[in-house]
Amino acid sequence: MSQDAKNTEEKKPKAVALLSGGLDSNLAVRMMKEQGVEVEAVAIKTPFCDFDCGKGCGHRVKEVADELDVKLKTVYFGEDYLRMLKNPKHGYGSGMNPCIDCREMMYGAAKEHMEKIGADFIITGEVLFQRPMSQNNKALHIIENETGLEGKVLRPLSAKHLPPTDAEKDGLIKRENMGDIKGRSRKGQLALAKHFGVHEPPNAAGGCLLTDPAFSKRVEDVMEHAADIPSINDIELLKVGRHFRLNPAVKLVVGRNKDENEIMKALVEDGDVVFEAVDHVGPTCILRGKNDDDAIARAAGITLRYSDAPKDARSKVRVTVAGKEQIIEASPAGIAETDALRL
Ligand code: SF4
Repeated sequence: MSQDAKNTEEKKPKAVALLSGGLDSNLAVRMMKEQGVEVEAVAIKTPFCDFDCGKGCGHRVKEVADELDVKLKTVYFGEDYLRMLKNPKHGYGSGMNPCIDCREMMYGAAKEHMEKIGADFIITGEVLFQRPMSQNNKALHIIENETGLEGKVLRPLSAKHLPPTDAEKDGLIKRENMGDIKGRSRKGQLALAKHFGVHEPPNAAGGCLLTDPAFSKRVEDVMEHAADIPSINDIELLKVGRHFRLNPAVKLVVGRNKDENEIMKALVEDGDVVFEAVDHVGPTCILRGKNDDDAIARAAGITLRYSDAPKDARSKVRVTVAGKEQIIEASPAGIAETDALRL
């Protein structure tokens, strides 16, 4: 046998995995490694979730990559993601989740890495019919087609229910060893976890924050009122406090506890107005947008509404703009008025 032929024969197939830290992509990598495939992983962080669709599982992604003994590359989506979110080609799911466009961006990042390292294909932990918007045959086909990855994406957990990929056709992996899991039941995954000795497999992850109805309302509001796209700081602010739209040009965010007050202080930007009750325990509040006297007076009243200040008397409020403090007096806002402005 010539040396060239020997080298070709010895070359291991190589795949790039979209790794989330959840169970499904973890199992997908294990299935590939069991078949002798060399795997590198890409983890995605969007402004709305730590990694991929893993609600809360994202922090485990590095740990999982170590356990799996795979190299990990983390890709951060920022403004490019927000631009897509403003007008996703394939629309939204039940909340503001643009799952098909989002998956396309993730596939794009995996494709880039695949080309960079000369991998043969991509693997994901997707399970057919597990998620309504992005994991049905039509959506999977659209995503592959629009990212130029037709035949290049293998979903090991569901592969037997999907058309053969190039990796199967070319004999890089054996289709008969692939999974036939579909739907929302976790039985198949738990059996595989047992097979691979994965102890304490994490629960099924829900979608990212964009699938949460209450959070989606805030996202919709900030998208609608941003001149172009909101900033990453605007999005971080959506994750804390109670939110009030005072008028089309200005909103108020009211901290709900000490921790949120601290986070909010760290998010204050030039042009923000910060409110705090002077003589009573209460929230830190941020007024963001084009403020005027009416917005300042309303914000002071809402600040007092959520403080320990007496509800039937005027109290002092510290108003800080660009480091300059001013003390004003206001009456706490009424419940009906406050509720009507709440997002
Ligand atoms: S739930 Fe949808 S929008 Fe959110 S990270 Fe997953 S695919 Fe993306």
